[in-house]
Amino acid sequence: MSRILSLVRPNIAALSPYSTARDEYGGPIGIFMDANESPYENGYNRYPDPHQAELKALLGRLKGLKSENIFLGNGSDEAIDLIFRIFCVPGRDNVVAISPSYGMYTVAAAINDVAVHSVPLDENFLLDSGALIAACDSNTRVIFLCSPNNPSGNAFPREQLLDICRRFNGVVVVDEAYADFSSNGSLAADAVATDNLIVLQTLSKARAMAGLRIGMAISSSEIVGLMSRVKYPYNLSRAAMEKAFQLLEKPVEDEIRTIVAERQRLYSRLPSYPFIQKVFPSDANFLLVRVDDADKLYSFLLEKGIIVRNRSRIPGCAGCLRISIGLPAENEALLNALDTYAI
Ligand SMILES: *Cc1c(COP(=O)(O)O)cnc(C)c1O
Repeated sequence: MSRILSLVRPNIAALSPYSTARDEYGGPIGIFMDANESPYENGYNRYPDPHQAELKALLGRLKGLKSENIFLGNGSDEAIDLIFRIFCVPGRDNVVAISPSYGMYTVAAAINDVAVHSVPLDENFLLDSGALIAACDSNTRVIFLCSPNNPSGNAFPREQLLDICRRFNGVVVVDEAYADFSSNGSLAADAVATDNLIVLQTLSKARAMAGLRIGMAISSSEIVGLMSRVKYPYNLSRAAMEKAFQLLEKPVEDEIRTIVAERQRLYSRLPSYPFIQKVFPSDANFLLVRVDDADKLYSFLLEKGIIVRNRSRIPGCAGCLRISIGLPAENEALLNALDTYAI
């Protein structure tokens, strides 16, 4: 038995997944009397492909990956939930996660009755690998890392992340929702080659498809196979897959370049405001900003019709607002609003 299979919950390892008659048939045309669908064509009367073969092939071409190394979910949030359901026995196992980080790891943990051991990042949001490994015990099944990290914005060095994979006898998840904005690049190729690494990516951010709900997990074919067995058979709709297929033809490199340039512009402009104490360096499409009175500035901006994220109540983020980079004119509107803010 492989090391990874020995980490899988016994009920999952023993699962025989839902199968469809169309899997057994496989041909493109036929008289379909197997799935109780309506025979009247409207473009959506048939169930979508549960294996998502076409979209996986296209994403594989774009990312230089094989389809067998790509899991597609209803947002990365589905992948996060499946990782809990595959590897963590409720009420017994635990996961280790950095803090502050993306809220979904803790929410999915709570839903699955799995404890989270939080490891605080330092005051510059850097990660102490020793502390992370020390927080693991014999029931720790998964380490959740996010790079670039939400909400701090910084990316962790590739070598540090791979070192954690080597030192931990469990699954390491690196959430790369923002990797397209980072000069650190991606660990996708490493995830294929490392038996215990899962990289999460999404079409929601740089690829501009948050409304379609399509997330990816990139990993060994063994882990991808486990996730595919546990997912709902038709977890991506035909409409979402078709639209993604169409939108993926449009390059987004120029948009990403503009967002990164605008991030740099705001990063240099924002510290000149006396009520802004610190702007944290970012590899993502947002900036975390520490201000004198976060609630007050948040409400002021809200009154001006500018909605930012108040992160001042989460650990390590006292006084902090998180600001997504908008269009150049929107960023200008933010600066104009800040010009009129008097503390
Ligand atoms: C936005 C975000 C995601 C994306 O989630 P989807 O469900 O794919 O939209 C994943 N991880 C992090 C850290 C994020 O900030």
